[in-house]
Parts: sequence; C-alpha cells; structure tokens
Amino acid sequence: MRLLVVGGGITGLAAAWQAQRGTAAPAGGRAELEQAGVDQANAKQANAKQASLEQVSVEVVVVEAADHLGGKLRTEISNGLLIEHGPDSFVAYRPAALKLIDELGLTDQVISISGTRTVYLRSRGRLRPLPAGMGMVLPTKLWPFVTTGILSPLDKLRAGLDLALPRKLRAGQDVTIGGFLRSRLGNGIVQRFADPMVGGIYGASVNELSLDAVLPSLRADEDAHRSLMLASLAAGRKARAAGPRGANSPFRTLRDGLGSLITALADQLTAGGAQIFTGTEVLSLTPTATGGVSAKLGSGEGVATQIFDAVVLACGVDGSAKLLASAAPAAASALSEIPLASSNVLSLIYAEDAFAEPLTTHGWLEADGAPISGVTVSSAKWAGRAPGGKVLIRAFVPGRLGAIAAAPDDELIKAVSEHVTSVLKASKGPDQVKISRWDSVMPKYTVGQLERVATVESALAELPAWRVAGSPLRGVGVPDCVADGRRQAELALAGARSQQ
Ligand SMILES: Cc1cc2nc3c(=O)[nH]c(=O)nc-3n(C[C@H](O)[C@H](O)[C@H](O)COP(=O)(O)OP(=O)(O)OC[C@H]3O[C@@H](n4cnc5c(N)ncnc54)[C@H](O)[C@@H]3O)c2cc1C
Repeated sequence: MRLLVVGGGITGLAAAWQAQRGTAAPAGGRAELEQAGVDQANAKQANAKQASLEQVSVEVVVVEAADHLGGKLRTEISNGLLIEHGPDSFVAYRPAALKLIDELGLTDQVISISGTRTVYLRSRGRLRPLPAGMGMVLPTKLWPFVTTGILSPLDKLRAGLDLALPRKLRAGQDVTIGGFLRSRLGNGIVQRFADPMVGGIYGASVNELSLDAVLPSLRADEDAHRSLMLASLAAGRKARAAGPRGANSPFRTLRDGLGSLITALADQLTAGGAQIFTGTEVLSLTPTATGGVSAKLGSGEGVATQIFDAVVLACGVDGSAKLLASAAPAAASALSEIPLASSNVLSLIYAEDAFAEPLTTHGWLEADGAPISGVTVSSAKWAGRAPGGKVLIRAFVPGRLGAIAAAPDDELIKAVSEHVTSVLKASKGPDQVKISRWDSVMPKYTVGQLERVATVESALAELPAWRVAGSPLRGVGVPDCVADGRRQAELALAGARSQQ
C-alpha cells in the first residue's frame, strides 16, 4: 500500500502517523465507509480487512508545498520569547490531541494555564470579568449572570424572555447561530457573549455561522428543554453534582510551543520510514484504472509523477478544491463554496515596567467596537513565553473587523498598540511587534456547511481511496484536525483495500 498525504500541517502529519502505525479501524468504521458511499459489500469486505491492518505495511509519503512543515502551527523561539504565529493551545475535552501527544511520548511536556483563569470581556466601556459558570454563550449559574455588568438590565430582561418563549427551530432547517440566539435571548447575548466567544474561535461572525455545523447542541437543547437558559442551568447543575472539575481551564499547550508537536511527529514519522518532502507541491491528481491515484509532484528539481493506492488531501479548502477539480468536480465545487476568513495575529512585546502592577489577567475579548477582537496575555497565561522583564501579548485582528485587518503593517501596528496600551493603562507602548498574517485560510462554517460536507462525501463515493481531511469539513480546532486526519487515513486505506 502506498499512501500519499497532501499537506504537512497537523492534519496531514496526523494522517501519516495513523497510516504508519496501522492501527485498527476507527470507531464506527463500517458506518463511516457506508456513509462515505462505499457500497455495502465493499464496506464489509474492507472492514474485515481493516481488522488485520496492523499486519499491512503502508508506505507513507507526505508532500508539503511550503519549505517547512506544520502549516498553521508555527512556533518561533528567539531571545527567550516563544511566539506562536498560529494556534497557541488546544482544548483538552476533545481528546485527540492529547492522545497523539501521549503516543509521541510528549505527555510530560503538556502544560496547563498558569494561576487561575481570569478572562475579561470589554463591554459597555470597561473590562469586566466573565461571570462565573459562563459557557460559550449561556450561563450555567444564575446569580453571576444576573449580577454581571457585561449586559445592561434591559439585555438581561430580554434574555429572561427565553424562559417563556415557544420553540423556534424547524426540523431540517439550518439557521445562523446569531439569528437563532437573537430570536430566543435578544441581541445583548449575541453581541456581548456569542459573537466575541464563538466568533473568535471561527474567525467569523455568529450572524453567518451555521447552527447545525458549529453548535448543534443548541438545537438539541431547544428540542429537549424548549428554553436554552433552562437547558444550560440544568447542564450546570448536573456538572457540579458530578464533582469538582479539576483544572479550571480546558486549554493545554506544550512547554516548547505547538511547533514541538510538529517536530516530534516529523522525527518519529521519518524514523518509522515515512518519506516527507517539503518545498514540493502536488500539482495534480488523476485516478488510476485500479482506483488509486497518479500524482504529479513539482519541486525545484522538476516535475515527477508517482502512483499511489490512496490519498488524503490535508491541504485546506483551496488546495483540495484545486486537486479534485478534474477527478471529482462536484466535490471541488462544494469545497469552493466554503467561504474563507482571514486573521492577523500581532505579538506585542512590552517591558514589564510599562505596567504599574504585574499583569495577571490572561486576556480579554472585545464586545464593543475596537481594532481587535481580543487579546491573550501569553506571558501570564503560559509558563516560559517571555524572559524576565518582558511581557508578551497576542492581539487578534480578524478580517471581519474590516479595513483595519487589511491595513499596511505600520497602520495595523499603530492602531493595535495604542488600543492595547490604553486598555492596560501601560505607561509606554510595546518595544517590538511581530505580525503574522493569515489571509483567506480559515474555513467558515456558514449556513449550508453540512450540505456541502454531504456533497463532498457523495461526490467522492466513486473514489473510495480519496479522502479530504482537516478543517475544510469537520472541525477547525487542532484536536478536530488530528482526529479527522487519522480517521480519513484509515478510510482512504480501507477504500483502497476494498478495490483490490
Ligand atoms: C491565527 C490562527 C489561530 C488559531 N488558533 C487556534 C487555537 O488556538 N487552537 C486551535 O485548536 N486551533 C486554532 N486555529 C485553527 C488551527 O490552527 C487550524 O484549523 C489547523 O492548524 C489546520 O491544520 P491543517 O493541517 O488542516 O491545515 P494547514 O495547517 O493549513 O496545513 C495545510 C498544508 O497544506 C499545504 N498545501 C496546500 N496545498 C498543497 C499542495 N497542492 N501540495 C502540497 N502541500 C499543499 C500547505 O502549504 C499547508 O502547509 C487557529 C488558526 C489560525 C489561522
């Protein structure tokens, strides 16, 4: 078996890792194969073969267009500063990232946040602590919500109407998260909680994000409890009854940054026999007569064609759409319909003496107009991010903030530095600022995302050894990408075996 993995980001490397380890079928493997369009007989046959996958040796080839691995995971360490250009952490309640880290022998490198989680929302003119027990959009405890200054008294009264309102959702009809929450709880909750918190993760406004693709639990809550507020408070009571939750934050990262996950994966993949090529682009993919794939690879040394039994496309929305355009045009066109968000990460390095008191807050989200969507005080949140005497702050400027996000570097730096300096009441601005620009790279799961996923799946039914993995379809977080990379590698190999 030869497996081609297109893209050397976390998804592609996780896919390669799974293929190289040759573990047994993923949970629900047959169901997934059937759903993926492999006919039932083939799926059963493939499942039987999957059980003995560990005996099959898979030759894994990872091809990455950039001159470095990791994609959006990029850690820079210099002069005692640890700067994350892309993601800086992941959630522990989706276990795929921690499991992979464990398999790589890096568990002792995992760190949790320093101190107590202290996150603020800048709302109605000042920084206010998130009410205790606040979930992504709804409170799990009543009193801190009733007393928070983040919402105006009118906003709170309007949110309370949710307790009396009838069900709003219609079965089978996807809506925006913002529209749904507004209809039940009013605009205050949308503007001051949902948009900063959910929109921040997806780089898009809740007024365009799909309820069914991003927060399907809200539909389930309305189905079961009618009132979202009652559902959330009930979930809070249940969680508290189950006992103390341990660490007070779900976020984890690695001592030497997320780049160390990429380095460990690359090292162990190579040691296990995988071939990894950087600076090499997959130019085109063509199906072979046996259901495999003929890949044209281009690098500084020229163009070469290689034949594989299976392929995992872990190369984002545009990359996957381009490579599927001739073999599976319906899949390519569904992928092309996924809008892409842009974002900028600014790393601001302050002298510690710019602040009257040491900073202990881990950051804040903006609920009113500002040139940023939020800030992480990395050096307060994580150990080892800045040397003594320095404070490292990450500020986010997503494309949805408009012109400022596309402004030239000097304008962007000025607007962000002035804002952060003023909110933190620093006596002087940052000594140094680094910008990481991510243009049109983050898939937005807008209304209709689940239909687009279904279209891609059914269009690829004819090519069971071809799979699209990672953030385009089934989750943008690092753990989602790890889980999906691994699952799609299994499915691609099972699909290839079903055709032999
Ligand atoms: C600024 C930012 C902050 C984020 N913060 C977090 C966070 O804190 N926590 C979290 O969980 N998630 C976060 N995310 C999301 C997460 O980082 C991404 O969803 C995830 O890293 C995507 O990984 P990937 O491997 O699927 O894609 P990528 O990392 O984009 O990798 C795809 C790779 O494919 C390569 N490629 C494309 N086309 C070809 C081709 N034809 N041939 C060869 N190679 C090709 C590209 O060069 C690229 O390296 C963040 C994202 C961004 C942009």
